[in-house]
Amino acid sequence: MFCPHCGKEMADEAVFCQHCGARNPAAPQSEQAASEQAPPSGAQQYYQPQVAPASVMIYPRQHSLPLVIVLNLIFPGIGNLIFGQTAKGLVMFAATVVLGTGTCGVLWFVSCVVMTIDGVMLSNKLNSGQPIGQWEFFG
Ligand SMILES: [Zn+2]
Repeated sequence: MFCPHCGKEMADEAVFCQHCGARNPAAPQSEQAASEQAPPSGAQQYYQPQVAPASVMIYPRQHSLPLVIVLNLIFPGIGNLIFGQTAKGLVMFAATVVLGTGTCGVLWFVSCVVMTIDGVMLSNKLNSGQPIGQWEFFG
């Protein structure tokens, strides 16, 4: 049979449509059957796909990849601010200053290389139309 609510095919014996969650008017109406097969509360009318909240994702935006590279080569992490990884960029830059100073610049240099690669990969992911996480590394 077809769901009277959304029109998609559903099993004749199903109590609820698996597509939209509407009750099947032809299904047995006994309380027990309904309670056993009822979807989790809230799922009946307002099914939400399992995605991360929008606030923690960064969506593709216009940005300059050369600027990301130049900034990350000099101030590792700051380049990531260009495409929106503000907190991560600042934390990585602060970590670079502390660790780089403590190692006479060795870890500063390492961080320059790592963050430049990180910035390029994340920038490319954004440019291909995919969102990235606020704290995502290397895309
Ligand atoms: Zn339906």
